[in-house]
Amino acid sequence: MPRAARLALPSCVLLACVLLSVSPAGAQGPASYDLIIRNGRVLDGTGNPWFPADVAVRGGRIVRVGALGDATATRVIDARGKYVAPGFIDIHSHADDGSSPRGGLRDADPRIRSAPNVVSQGITTVVVNHDGRSPLPIAEQRALLERHGIGPNAMLLVGHGTVRGRVMGQDVRRPATPEEVARMRALVRQALQEGAVGMSAGLEYAPGRWSTTDELVELSRELVPVQGIYISHERSEGSDPLWYVPSQDGPGPVTLLDAVRETIEIGERTGARVVASHLKAKGANYWGSSAAAVHLIERARERGVDIWSDQYPYPTSGTDGSTVLIPAWATAGASASAGGATLARAEALRRTLADTGRARRLRSDIAHEIARRGGAPNVVVYDYPDRSLYGQSLAQIAARWAVDPVEAAIRIQLEGLPDRPGGARMRGFSMSELDMELIARQPWVATSTDGGIALPSDGPATHARFYGSFPRKIRHYAMERGVISLEAAIRSSTSLPAQIMRLGDRGQVREGFAADLVIFDLATIRDKATFFEPHQHSEGIELVLVNGVPVVDGGALTGALPGKVLAR
Ligand SMILES: [Zn+2]
Repeated sequence: MPRAARLALPSCVLLACVLLSVSPAGAQGPASYDLIIRNGRVLDGTGNPWFPADVAVRGGRIVRVGALGDATATRVIDARGKYVAPGFIDIHSHADDGSSPRGGLRDADPRIRSAPNVVSQGITTVVVNHDGRSPLPIAEQRALLERHGIGPNAMLLVGHGTVRGRVMGQDVRRPATPEEVARMRALVRQALQEGAVGMSAGLEYAPGRWSTTDELVELSRELVPVQGIYISHERSEGSDPLWYVPSQDGPGPVTLLDAVRETIEIGERTGARVVASHLKAKGANYWGSSAAAVHLIERARERGVDIWSDQYPYPTSGTDGSTVLIPAWATAGASASAGGATLARAEALRRTLADTGRARRLRSDIAHEIARRGGAPNVVVYDYPDRSLYGQSLAQIAARWAVDPVEAAIRIQLEGLPDRPGGARMRGFSMSELDMELIARQPWVATSTDGGIALPSDGPATHARFYGSFPRKIRHYAMERGVISLEAAIRSSTSLPAQIMRLGDRGQVREGFAADLVIFDLATIRDKATFFEPHQHSEGIELVLVNGVPVVDGGALTGALPGKVLAR
């Protein structure tokens, strides 16, 4: 029995296997495989419990899973006690999008294209061009990625917002005419022909927010014949959209539940596969509503709507990182000239406070914003002239100053950082763990980062999700909280997103599949990035293969660029 034979080897020989990564049998003849991972616990990505098996790789593919006996390979890795899983697939990545190639997978710098913070968390495929934003034409983006080389594999979407802007120019604050929709359809069709796998929408942002459901339905009809996917950052993630200010925008804003209903409607009317992106119930005034959103999606699935979702495992969003509690209208007219900005902002705010009617509307808008960002105990200061406020919540600061949180927010603006709307860098932890855990438990929710490529030079405002999302799903939600099993955490990061993206040969440890693989140590795997020090790679990810080539080896980045564009 090969396993017994291996156990009979002196441990120093096994150790040599690990350290030198050379097969002891390598000298006896030509190697039959490029790589054999021996003795690992295989979590195959389907949700099944682990099983012991060796995994052989040749030509970038998994060619054998099972007991490999005396088979030889150019390189042998002993994964005893470690887990061997499929590479993670991030279906909501910002590793590349927008008109500029800088900072993303199209960057001229190969160090950036290797996507260090992405592959170091075990991600081997990213789906990019989200929130309605993509380069155009897609053929150009694709050619650049293929010519220059990239760390992880990439799948490209075409951005609805980009297409809308291309057709409507600056005049986007209205529904499109039928003629304009026809021109948008042609652009979407062209992108799909050039290799895009679907369309993304960003309906909380300009210019997507002014589109109608009918416009999105018409464009999504292009997706159906090619099995393309519609992925939406929906119109609202809580009681109202990001841009909403109660005193300015009137009653009846669109809610998360309205937004989920719209995504369902688009799937139902067209038959297209649809994704409600980074599902959450944002705002202390909206907590608990995830149950209703989950219910809506469950009922739609029962009717046959092909709807899915994803989640990044942090209770704070990207936009929460630039929380501004003072509405822009209250400091309108403040000069942004260097040095004088705080004074001017403070002066404008004082004028607003001096007017009884305006001051009342200001205080009620601030109270609304505090709730939307998670409530005073969950809005945290990260940068302020008085460093003793670092890490303090608005509730703690208000208590220290013996004022209510609304007054504390006003005082932070009056006395705060030069040139900073709101007066401080603040982050709201706007989601409740109860909602997050309910969403994480749904079998149709994939893991995602909603993050891009980051380098330490990007500064302290970077969201921790850029570095830690996939290890955190395992460490926090499976191992510590027990919300899901380890197998479910792996499935939600591998075969589930592969199924959502119709990736027929990735997302499982299975013969014939691409050799996108991760070896991790369950005892040590964890996210390390924090909101004070986000630029920290995760621990416990020991080897990451993209198409059979190591991008992480012995826990260290290799800088290799083996990723492919996975086109339709
Ligand atoms: Zn988004």
